[in-house]
Amino acid sequence: MRHFMEKDGEMFAEDVALSEIAAKVGTPVYVYSAATFSRHYDVFAKGFEGTDALIAYSVKANSNLAILTLLGKRGAGADVVSGGELTRALRAGISPDKIVFSGVGKTREEMHLALNAGIFQFNVESAAELDALSDTAATMNMRAPIAFRVNPDVAAGGHEKISTGKKENKFGIAWEDAPSLYARAASLPGIKIQGVDVHIGSQITQLDPYARTIEKIGGLIKTLRADGHTIETFDLGGGLGIPYGDGGQQPPPPADYAAMVLEATKDLDVRLVFEPGRMIAGNSGVLLSRVIYTKPGETRNFLIVDAAMNDLIRPALYGAYHDVEPVKSGANATVSYDIVGPICESGDTFAVQRDLPKLAADELVVFHSAGAYGAVQSSQYNTRPLVPEVLVSGDKYEIIRKRPNYDEMLSSETIPDFI
Ligand SMILES: *Cc1c(COP(=O)(O)O)cnc(C)c1O
Repeated sequence: MRHFMEKDGEMFAEDVALSEIAAKVGTPVYVYSAATFSRHYDVFAKGFEGTDALIAYSVKANSNLAILTLLGKRGAGADVVSGGELTRALRAGISPDKIVFSGVGKTREEMHLALNAGIFQFNVESAAELDALSDTAATMNMRAPIAFRVNPDVAAGGHEKISTGKKENKFGIAWEDAPSLYARAASLPGIKIQGVDVHIGSQITQLDPYARTIEKIGGLIKTLRADGHTIETFDLGGGLGIPYGDGGQQPPPPADYAAMVLEATKDLDVRLVFEPGRMIAGNSGVLLSRVIYTKPGETRNFLIVDAAMNDLIRPALYGAYHDVEPVKSGANATVSYDIVGPICESGDTFAVQRDLPKLAADELVVFHSAGAYGAVQSSQYNTRPLVPEVLVSGDKYEIIRKRPNYDEMLSSETIPDFI
């Protein structure tokens, strides 16, 4: 069931008309459906029902405290990539024993914070990081539980900026270095080896790259065990894609993914860990925006909306496609629009030559599939207020991140006396 849909000629988020949110909160604004977040998490979790799998939601996809709290209450853990995300996850009530810490550049301060909290696992990405982690843990009289993020050198498809499992990516340790790095880890005072980790990319729409990864890692796990290491966890990362409505490749249903993974790992005797982000958050939110002007041109018709690349950077950054739809259906005539924001950059373009029902100033449009990597990547570029977020549940809704006013935006800046 879809939770962003048309009723009586206008689009709703669950039982709340988007036009009502626009009137009360203003635009641009992210609108999330609690029911959709829950459903996506539940669908994923159901695939691994009856196993001890840890589903560590990838906080970077959408890190709002309300969202983390909602998912945490359903049983989700958290995959964090910074001290800030760790703090969010803990504040949302997610138990430290369900938190994994990923990322190539963890600082000693962040390691200290995570060790203090007692997180489940550090996913280590280099020899230098391993040494720093061991040092930090040893001075705290602790052993940090680790998995190495191994680069399986598998092409996963998707955009080059989000592909991570190839040799030439900055992520993970090289396949050939794994045995020697595990041996080194075993010799360090502040380290406890507990598993293996991979994350091969994002917006993956086929099962095959996962299957090949599992096969390779399965072999590695046997080698590592033969070398005397204890390997209890296998973290498969995230990356499962979602439909963006562009007619592109359809991602496999989460149930098929789960069935494939369970079958392929059944003899490995490991606790599985997953880090899904986009799959849970992506289609749980839309960006609601208002048309400021229409600007007919000689060769192009511009639709100038009040959302911009600082609110949703995916089209500018990744060339990403977002389905765009008017909130109120009405016009029968179709116009080919270039949909752009007000920012002083040509890159501030959401879509080029997109066919939409004819729109006029003040009408509302939504950008679909904006729940993941949307609000989290927003900025105040052009001194535009940070875009607010609203969570809908049934006929209720609440602002879960408010729009700052200009005084608030400027309050953290100071003018030195020496000027
Ligand atoms: C971004 C990221 C994820 C989540 O990826 P999705 O494509 O959103 O599922 C999981 N693990 C790591 C290490 C990541 O960097």
